[in-house]
Amino acid sequence: MRYSRHLNLDRPKINRKDLDINLIIIGCGGIGNNIAYLCASLGIKNIYLIDGDIIEISNLNRQTLFFEKDILKSKSKVLCEKLKKINSQINIKYSSKTVDQLNIDNILNINNKDKTIIIDATDNMNTRFLLNDYCIKNKIKFISSSTIMTTGYVYSHIPSLNNACLNCFLENKKSNASCGIEGVLNGSLFMCASIMISEIIKIINKEYNTKNIPKLIKFNSYDYKIQLININKNKKCNTCKNKKFIHLDNKKEMQFCSKNFQKKFNKKDYEKVKKRIKSKKKINDLNIGFSFENIIVFKMGKILIKESTKQRANIKFNQYFT
Ligand SMILES: [Zn+2]
Repeated sequence: MRYSRHLNLDRPKINRKDLDINLIIIGCGGIGNNIAYLCASLGIKNIYLIDGDIIEISNLNRQTLFFEKDILKSKSKVLCEKLKKINSQINIKYSSKTVDQLNIDNILNINNKDKTIIIDATDNMNTRFLLNDYCIKNKIKFISSSTIMTTGYVYSHIPSLNNACLNCFLENKKSNASCGIEGVLNGSLFMCASIMISEIIKIINKEYNTKNIPKLIKFNSYDYKIQLININKNKKCNTCKNKKFIHLDNKKEMQFCSKNFQKKFNKKDYEKVKKRIKSKKKINDLNIGFSFENIIVFKMGKILIKESTKQRANIKFNQYFT
């Protein structure tokens, strides 16, 4: 009964046994929330949610499964708990770490490559190219997406078809990485997730083949436009042609738009720390502690510093807590 509305469909045909795949969703924000909901309610058997970020009030206009009471909690953990309440018959797990080139193998820890699809629901180009490198190198199916303002893109790479990778057509766009300052219309994220669930079903149903390779899907949710764009493989592509995985092999620390760095202090010192910082900075009182600038200090002895690199977070930590 649960799935009857899907099983009754003529097109696409959805067989329950084909949904026994491993779906890894990287990024639990605007796109991640909606695609995770669609996958869980469709009955995809194994879902793994990865995001190192915490929920903020500015997320609630578009990150559907986050509520006011969830603010300051881990995005991936909260999303995991909500999805388990929606569908208790599937396996859902999470990691509250931010994927980078040093930890990607450990966090993803993929056992069955053929049964795995990686979903890029991230908000930055650095992670997007890292995932592209990882999926090309390890021959894993990959669906990438991005949404900004009212437009967005979805693109699938299928190793057995050897179609163009992201680097084939985005190589020169790296410097245009956006941190979302332009804003995004919440409905665009729903449209993006709707297209992505169709891509997932097409991949599961093996609808893509050498005569029907994935196209770049460009949409605008406000102008009601969808374009399918043919993407040619770049014969000089460093990633899929020359197998140079510069993002995976990069030993330098990755730059993020923002990332939460966690620090600890002795919780017995909480009041002392609070008094000291209050004398210098304007602080906001919270149930669980207090916040100032991009820093949250928890009564339990934890500090979250939102910064672009670990080095910058360490400077902030030394400035206020040592
Ligand atoms: Zn390529």
